[in-house]
Amino acid sequence: MSFYFGEKTWVELQELIEKDALIIIPVGTTEEHGRHLPVETDAMIAEMFGKEIGKALQDKIPVLVTRPIYFGYSMDIVTKWPGTVKIRTRVFMDYVFDIIDAMMKMGFSKIALLDCHGNHDGLLRTVMREIADKHGKFICILSPAKLSEHVYKKLKKDPEGDIHGGEWETSMILAYRPELVKKDEYTNVDAIRCNNELRGPVSTWGLQKTKTGLFGDPTYASAELGEACLKAGVEEAVRILIKYYNLKVE
Ligand SMILES: [Zn+2]
Repeated sequence: MSFYFGEKTWVELQELIEKDALIIIPVGTTEEHGRHLPVETDAMIAEMFGKEIGKALQDKIPVLVTRPIYFGYSMDIVTKWPGTVKIRTRVFMDYVFDIIDAMMKMGFSKIALLDCHGNHDGLLRTVMREIADKHGKFICILSPAKLSEHVYKKLKKDPEGDIHGGEWETSMILAYRPELVKKDEYTNVDAIRCNNELRGPVSTWGLQKTKTGLFGDPTYASAELGEACLKAGVEEAVRILIKYYNLKVE
């Protein structure tokens, strides 16, 4: 049976509200990802994780998955290339807030976001706090990249890892939509060279200039790596989301 929110009738949704079903909202964006990856890369990764997590959860707890959020906030640096559709921070936060607010008004109380775009982390956490202030209920925010990090770190070939369009993201699209990856456009001119200690404390985009819109080295990517990270990320998400679904605040 389908677990997609949009494929249900209101009658079916009513039954799922009575079961307090978990809603998963995959959050991607549309922005340039170098010369070799499609601009919907983050949205596709969000869609892929949403689908696999929904499949893995459907026999365990009542679950619904929405279509991905396709447009979000990107920094100006990546608007230099075509394909980046930049939504202002406040507009994006209000949009996500309204989606969750509407679902809570329907009667749903357990909502999980899959954050698949680095520029959204602080924004989504602020929405989480605004929703808690209004509804007294806490949403859950998971990052598939972080959930699969233990496997990625074990298997990766690029010692520096990936920030944007490098080994991890290219591997994910190779696992999901390989026909969209332009392998003959691979380049390592934007391999990560910046000071590691400053990655995190300073936005990575302020540490190194990008020539082709990448921040990483896609030449290390493989579909096998993408599949392993997908499997690991889904397993972790399932484990955490079952705990979230059963959470009772005493
Ligand atoms: Zn990305």
